[in-house]
Amino acid sequence: MSILEKDLKQNTEPKAKDNLLEVKNLKTYYPIKGGFFRRTVGYVKAVDDVSFEIKKGETLGLVGESGCGKSTTGRTILRLLNATSGQIIFDGQDITNIRGKALREARKDFQMVFQDPYASLNPMQMVGDVIAEPLKNFGKHNPKELKAEVMDLLQRVGLPEDAYYKYAHEFSGGQRQRIGIARSLALKPKLIIADEPVSALDVSVQSQVLNLLKELQQEFDLTYLFIAHNLSVVKHMSDRIGVMYLGNIVEIADKSSIYDEPLHPYTQALISAIPEPDPKRKKERIVLTGDLPSPANPPTGCPFHTRCPVARPECSEVKPQLKEVKPGHKVACVLYD
Ligand code: SF4
Repeated sequence: MSILEKDLKQNTEPKAKDNLLEVKNLKTYYPIKGGFFRRTVGYVKAVDDVSFEIKKGETLGLVGESGCGKSTTGRTILRLLNATSGQIIFDGQDITNIRGKALREARKDFQMVFQDPYASLNPMQMVGDVIAEPLKNFGKHNPKELKAEVMDLLQRVGLPEDAYYKYAHEFSGGQRQRIGIARSLALKPKLIIADEPVSALDVSVQSQVLNLLKELQQEFDLTYLFIAHNLSVVKHMSDRIGVMYLGNIVEIADKSSIYDEPLHPYTQALISAIPEPDPKRKKERIVLTGDLPSPANPPTGCPFHTRCPVARPECSEVKPQLKEVKPGHKVACVLYD
């Protein structure tokens, strides 16, 4: 290989140092207590061996049915929940088990936008105080500077200045979500985990909030982990998409590969359920039978074999690993072994 070819290869290959977040073999299990002595009699395997990375400035979408573990994954990364095992590397630092001051410092760089903006805002505080709270927690106490910063954030999320003196209940759902976004931006984080940020909003305001998140990503140089069950919303927002099923990532690839050439039978079923806007174009819908199994008692072998329309006998015995089958396209299914 010539020096020029080597240089080109190095420049085009993804480098680990470009990753803002690396999640390696992450597991989050909840103990199930039972019996007279409340002993641990089992575990709910909410997140079961999940690995992925997000590059700086990228948006990774996580999709799947409710109960598939996507929110638990987000909360574990933010250290709102403790990982049972695995590693979370954020901006080169292993944050899996950090505590106290180190965790507090690290938290400045990763924030969450919640699904229900009303529940996440203190109804007793003025909006100005809600947004200023993280700044105060991290030592900014000059009232003049604080107010100027909050006013700037209000303007950047498209709220009027007088919102500063109002309370959360005086705003619509979309405006409340803007307040939540302003608060999450206050400390100028690097990563935002948005957990179903528009699913509680009217369809008419969903696209406004999504477009705002996209604009802010450019403006603040943000990286997103975008969690949602709505595939159209995830498509609009994401560069790459991970599909979760029963605590596992079963497929991960760039957006166009997931939507145009889904490989995993579960992803194919999800994509087939997206309504076709052009009534002349017919597409066959793959209807999955059966319910999502309980993560407290997951099936042996492939977690999807109880509902998979193309399952083979060996699928109930061996759990397929997530493998790269095309550049940047990973899938966990024996069909691609
Ligand atoms: Fe279906 Fe088997 Fe592939 Fe699982 S491993 S998705 S059961 S074909």
